[in-house]
Amino acid sequence: MSISIKTAREIEKMRRAGELLEKVHDELGRAIHPGMSTWEINKLGEEMIRSFGCTPNFLNYNGYPASICVSVNEEVVHGIPSKKRILKEGDIVSLDAGLIYEGYHSDAARTHAVGEISPEARKLVEVTRQAFFEGIKYAKAGHHLHEISAAIGAYAESFGYGVVRDLVGHGIGTHLHEDPAVPNFAQPSRGVRLQPGMTFAIEPMITAGGYAVRWLDDDCTVVTEDGSLAAHYENTILITGGEPEILTLSHTEEDL
Ligand code: MG
Repeated sequence: MSISIKTAREIEKMRRAGELLEKVHDELGRAIHPGMSTWEINKLGEEMIRSFGCTPNFLNYNGYPASICVSVNEEVVHGIPSKKRILKEGDIVSLDAGLIYEGYHSDAARTHAVGEISPEARKLVEVTRQAFFEGIKYAKAGHHLHEISAAIGAYAESFGYGVVRDLVGHGIGTHLHEDPAVPNFAQPSRGVRLQPGMTFAIEPMITAGGYAVRWLDDDCTVVTEDGSLAAHYENTILITGGEPEILTLSHTEEDL
């Protein structure tokens, strides 16, 4: 397994890729409303990515037919946008998006409320987001990769939630998915020692029920086996000599 260490020049490009992706997510988050189709979300996101002169990296990736993955309620990830799928009050919708800027990838996901949602759904969304922040407390040079994994899993499981096993985070750079895999649950090994210049997409996928998932017949959409709600939160991060830099999240947005 080889993990790329980014140079200062590469890091500058990844910062820009992250910054632009954050703008896409912010815009999509503001646009979400009951009555909107998942197709409209994809269209808006793809247009914005292209307006920056960037390329949507999910489009045609392993046969995925759209630019933004839009996953509603029990859909965990890789939901395919459709004009027929209309968001309704009380849904939660996970948006996973990525783009390529001058050859460098960014990848991030957010789960949004559609109108008013149940307290149970809100808690799942908040815990999933917080699980990411619990994980990256260990995203520092000298720590080991699976400390991140264990922290994410332990936090989510402390609420009785399911931590998806079959899908994991990943290294990222000149490719969307690079080594290493970044699981969201404890591993038997410590994993690689973290070094400045490593970049990862850390992405807890958490369910309100069991962790088992299955693929729908479209070969893309992943749903919870038990039909429970699922949430997803992801950022692209950079390991530094100190605190990790979250490339797809500006520091000012942090007090939601
Ligand atoms: Mg990812």
